[in-house]
Amino acid sequence: MKTYDVVIVGGGIVGSSAAYFLKKQGFTGTIALIERDTSYANGCTARSCGGIRQQFSTPENIRLSKFGLNILRRLKEEFGPEADVGFHEQGYLILASENGRAILEENHAIQVENGADNVLLDAQGLAKQFPWLVTDGLALGCFGKSGEGWLDPYSLMGLFRKAAAARGVDIIQGEVASVKKTGGRASSLTLTDGSEIACGTLVNAGGTGAGALARMAGIELPVGPRKRYVYVLDCPGASEALHKAPLTVDISGIYFRPEGRQFICGLSPEEVDEPREMNWEVDYAWFEERIWETLAARVPAFEAIKVVNAWVGHYDYNALDQNAVIGPHPQVSNFLFANGFSGHGLQQGPGAGNAIAELIIHGGYRTIDLERFGFERIARKVPLFERNVI
Ligand SMILES: Cc1cc2nc3c(=O)[nH]c(=O)nc-3n(C[C@H](O)[C@H](O)[C@H](O)COP(=O)(O)OP(=O)(O)OC[C@H]3O[C@@H](n4cnc5c(N)ncnc54)[C@H](O)[C@@H]3O)c2cc1C
Repeated sequence: MKTYDVVIVGGGIVGSSAAYFLKKQGFTGTIALIERDTSYANGCTARSCGGIRQQFSTPENIRLSKFGLNILRRLKEEFGPEADVGFHEQGYLILASENGRAILEENHAIQVENGADNVLLDAQGLAKQFPWLVTDGLALGCFGKSGEGWLDPYSLMGLFRKAAAARGVDIIQGEVASVKKTGGRASSLTLTDGSEIACGTLVNAGGTGAGALARMAGIELPVGPRKRYVYVLDCPGASEALHKAPLTVDISGIYFRPEGRQFICGLSPEEVDEPREMNWEVDYAWFEERIWETLAARVPAFEAIKVVNAWVGHYDYNALDQNAVIGPHPQVSNFLFANGFSGHGLQQGPGAGNAIAELIIHGGYRTIDLERFGFERIARKVPLFERNVI
């Protein structure tokens, strides 16, 4: 049986970043990154919308995203002159009705306190800055003047993974089928091909598979897949101003943003409307019945849109509070979580990976204190809610 000091399960943005930062921070032990789908095509990362923002209500989330932003700012320094992830710094615009005004103001205050470059605009200010927007029913909008936008998630993940491999991380194609515990520690993994790998530390970076992986070690983690649709829209009549729009989140929860010369949009369902089937089939009726009319009322140019493509992705959803779970299990202390990002893990993957490396090397956090994201709240079922889950 082969032995590694650290075994990371899952080679998406979180697992790849953890492997990279372990090496970058000088970890000299052996590291394996185990991934069942080395096309990386069906994980959350490849299917995400690539957004990065500071518009959260939880300070830890703001700091994690700012860590990701700092990587984007220093991309070539970090990964070499060819590195490019197509970062479009066009901002986020989160809208609020009169009912949502107080919460948006509170969130904005938390964001600014944590270094975000965000500004509140009233209906008049919104109409002036975003002439394509109908401001009926809007009281306020929070706009990220810098440090927010979107990028190509697949490219960012690839940079971390390749840099980790170049620094000596072994990437193993295989699916973990079981976890063996010895003396209260996760001691080894068995892959579906029957091979076994012993581990000093086990990092769960399994995305939507994180709950299933935890269960193999006898741990209940409320993280699993939640199906989401992203629609690609053609809008021949869109103005240049609309093509420069920020990622805009309407009071209905519908979001859209430019994507090349097209647009993408989506809407997360209420709990009662959550799709029961976890497959790859797009529900086009969801767009027709739940999105189109509301979207066109907010942005009249979208009255003449055509859905030209769509894809399904699955959120790595933490059903307790939609916030990440990061850190060791209180009893199985060599089992570390980096899970449950619930729609904001692309931007937080680098920060989470760096935090996991700090835990392994130093036994505690050095850059961002993530104690509140620990497993203890899951065990006690005491949620730490994030208000801005899109
Ligand atoms: C439609 C959509 C839009 C999104 N938009 C955004 C956004 O705009 N901004 C943002 O920040 N986030 C966004 N997200 C969320 C983000 O994509 C995820 O939170 C993030 O990618 C999680 O990264 P990960 O590395 O944990 O998961 P993944 O990328 O899914 O990687 C986990 C990997 O683990 C592997 N794995 C699982 N179990 C096993 C096993 N037993 N054995 C071996 N391998 C295993 C899987 O194959 C997978 O490749 C979005 C997600 C979706 C679905």
